[in-house]
Formats: sequence, structure tokens, C-alpha cells
Amino acid sequence: MNDHTILAEGRWQAAKNGETLAMIDPSEGHAFARIARGRAEDIDRAVASARRAYETHWRKVPGVERGRHLAKIAEAIRTHAEELATLEARDTGKPLKQARVDATVAARYFEFYAGAADKIHGDAIPFLSEYQVIAIREPYGVTGHIIPWNYPLQMGARTIAAALAAGNALVLKPAEEACLAVIRLAELALAAGLPADVLNLVTGLGEEAGAALAGHADIDHVSFTGSPEVGTLVQQAAARRNAGCTMELGGKSPQIVFADANLEAAVPTIVNAIIQNAGQTCSAGSRLLVERRVYDGVVGQVAERFAKLRVGPALADLDCGPMISAGQKKRVEGFLATAAEEGIPVLARAQFANDLPAGGYYVAPALYGPVPQSNRLACDEVFGPVLSAIPFADEDDAIRLANATAYGLTAGVWTENGGRQLRVAKGLKCGQVFVNNYGAGGGVELPFGGMKRSGYGREKGMEALHHLTTVKTVVLKHG
Ligand code: NAD
Repeated sequence: MNDHTILAEGRWQAAKNGETLAMIDPSEGHAFARIARGRAEDIDRAVASARRAYETHWRKVPGVERGRHLAKIAEAIRTHAEELATLEARDTGKPLKQARVDATVAARYFEFYAGAADKIHGDAIPFLSEYQVIAIREPYGVTGHIIPWNYPLQMGARTIAAALAAGNALVLKPAEEACLAVIRLAELALAAGLPADVLNLVTGLGEEAGAALAGHADIDHVSFTGSPEVGTLVQQAAARRNAGCTMELGGKSPQIVFADANLEAAVPTIVNAIIQNAGQTCSAGSRLLVERRVYDGVVGQVAERFAKLRVGPALADLDCGPMISAGQKKRVEGFLATAAEEGIPVLARAQFANDLPAGGYYVAPALYGPVPQSNRLACDEVFGPVLSAIPFADEDDAIRLANATAYGLTAGVWTENGGRQLRVAKGLKCGQVFVNNYGAGGGVELPFGGMKRSGYGREKGMEALHHLTTVKTVVLKHG
């Protein structure tokens, strides 16, 4: 891939000032590609391109036709799935099998929103007898999208597909740490016939290109996925022009295991939910809440699996890959060092593969427990393969502990008791609750987003379309 990674005015370009950034392979720790270091002037070009596209042609394209474009992109992703998955694995460090799932889910987003594009209905509202009121759902016009490095392919697909289905033209700013597969996805979209100026993409640093996009006067809505801290900056930038945002932020999601849980199903799912993408997943199940009377047995089974996990390079396709960067590795190791100083018991550590590349950013998954609720490991988002086990006394205590962090993204509940399944699901303050399963394999149909510090607004499903459109009320007096 060359450094012409800025897509504006329908063509791939270098940054205006010619600057580039190195892309590091986290499995090896050395550069393997370069991207353009886009700045405010490149964002200006991309936003102008999207605005022109929206005003001159895209706003007149009916939903059915937008859907046809998206269907062709879904097909192109399927045709190039292995290429996309390999690129994503190399770029993010995730095991190839996980990147293959990402490619499948990316195609599903385009497929889902292809079918949804001509089903975005408004309302006819009853009013006084001599009136007819219609509420029309309209696209914003030009939307800005900022995504993180952990799932560039999936998150790029979910936000691009929904924005286009809703009728917006858009500018995407992917993360500087990993974005090569989403660039390739944009190339495929153009090759599949998407009008080239509708989808614009600017690579670059968050504080440069990202900040310029969030603060751009001609962006009508900002969809942000990333950390709560940067989310605040993005909202402040958008607030200067009173533009709305969707915020998909972090999580500290609990897996709640009751004594009657089916452990055969629960234990492997719980382990997978924290080691997937090396724990660098917003919805990682990073807290394991277990009913006290079965705590030792459940935690013992999880520990047994943890000890057998193998960590290695993305393309070796083991259970767990490296952290995304040296900085992220240092951050996770900082949590582990503090836990050691505080005497939090380590119940299990995974194993490194024998021939681990020396420069890679590897951290062995770790299981801790019991972790006091007041400890950082129980409250803060580690964003690494670290699971904190915490015992609870009864149902009320489980709900109290589950809600005891500032986050509220997702939760898993494991119990065979039907009444309890619903009571706990209703008691949890978070955006998604999984009962006797977790993650739903991507579930593109399922509204996704947080409560509390985890954000607001929703991505995925039909719900995302409500957040990418606005309502115009037309009041007709017919006498
Ligand atoms: P981050 O907030 O540092 O970066 C996210 C994106 O924001 C990147 O594209 C980055 O370039 C950009 N950015 C950075 N500074 C910016 C600024 N000043 N203005 C505008 N944009 C800026 O987050 P990260 O470290 O890449 O990702 C980790 C965080 O993201 C975790 O907290 C994780 O939970 C969260 N996350 C949430 C979801 C979700 O859907 N809820 C999904 C993935 C990750």
C-alpha cells in the first residue's frame, strides 16, 4: 500500500503537505506500511467533497438504489474476505481466525443496511381535523465518523454502511494505529460502483485529522467510537456549532455466573469474551462475578482454561495476539504491576508461544481473584487480556456489583432460572444484556451502545439509522 491513503473528491491522494506515518506490525514491532498524515487542510478537502456529493447527487438517490450499492459492496467484501482478514490480522495483531470473523461481519453490515436503506419510514401524525401532519426522516447531509484501532474493518463497515443507507455522504477518520483494511474496504467500495465522492476517508493522527473533523463547521453529525476522554473532546468540538454526536465509548462489562449456570456453555464463552482481540474490545467481559457458594469451582475451571491459552503472532493464529502498540502494552503491564504491589492473587497466566518475535507487544492473559470492588482492576477499563473475579452473595448483590462501575456497555448473565434472567437483565444499567450467551457473533441487527460513561446513541441494527437521520415535521392545512 502506498501513502495515497486519503480519499477525497473521488480519488486517492497523499496528504497535502506530503507527510506520512509508519504503520507498525504489532506482532513484530516494526513498520510494514505507511499512511498519509492528513491534517486540517485534508479534512477540509474531504468535507467539501462529501458536501458537494450530497448536494449535487447523493441526496436525490432513492433508498432502493443506495441499497443496491451497499449490496454490491457486501459482495465485494465476501470475494476479498481472505485478503481483508489477513490485512486486518497483520495490522491489528489479532489472530487470523478472529480477523476472518471481522471480514464476515463487515460484509453482513453492508448486507443488512442494503436491505434497510429503502425502509427508513417517517410517520403520519394525527392532528386537528383540517390538518395532515407528516414527520419525514431525512439524512443529516454530511456526517463525520471517527473509529478506533481495535476493529477497523468491522467498525468501518458498520458506520459507513449505516451512514450511506441513511442517505448521508460521509468523511471517515480511522485510527492511526490500524486502518489498512478499512482503506482497502473503501477501495473495494469504489470498485463496486459507489459514487466516489460520497465516501471520503482521511488517515492521520487523532489530535490533528480527528480534531479537525470533529470541529469542522460543515459536519452535521459526528459518530465517535473510542475512549471516554477523547469522546469528551469530540463532543466539546461539536458543541461549538451545536452538532449532535453518537458516542460509543469504553466498558467494564460483567459476566454474572449464578450457582445454577450451565458451566459447560459459560466457561469457554467467558474466557473467549476476555481474550478476544487480546482484551482490546470495548465489550470485553472483563469482570467475572460469581455466586460465592460456587466461586472456587467456577474460577478454578476458568483458571484451567487460562493456563492453556497460547499467545503469539497474528498469523500463527493462536488464542491471543499482541497488544496494538508498545504504549498499550506498557499501560496493561502497569495495571499488572500495581495489582502485584497490592497483593491481588493471580489465579492463572497464559503461555507465550516458543518462537515469539522479540519486538512484538505481547502480554500473557491473566486471571485475578478475588479482586476487591474498590480496586482499579475491578473498576477501570484495562483494555487488555485481564479478567478480575469477584464473588457475590445473592441476586441483589450481583446487580449492585455489576452496576458498581462508571461504565454500562454490555453484560452476560448465566443462570437457568427464567425469572432471575429477566430480573437481572432489567436491573442492569447497560446497553446490551446477553443471557446464557455473549457477544452474539457480531449481531449486526442488534442495537449497540452504552449507558453512563460508556456513551449514548446506538450503532448497529435499525436503531443506528435513527441516529444518522433527523426528523422534519411538515404540517399541512387542507381545510
Ligand atoms: P481513542 O479515543 O484514543 O481513539 C479513537 C479514535 O479517536 C482514533 O481514530 C483517534 O485517532 C481519534 N482521536 C484521538 N484523539 C482525538 C481528538 N483529540 N479529536 C478527535 N479524534 C481523536 O481510543 P483508542 O485508544 O483508539 O480505543 C480504545 C478505547 O475505545 C477504549 O476505551 C474502548 O473501550 C473504546 N472502544 C469503544 C467501542 C464501542 O463501540 N463502545 C469500540 C471500540 C473501542
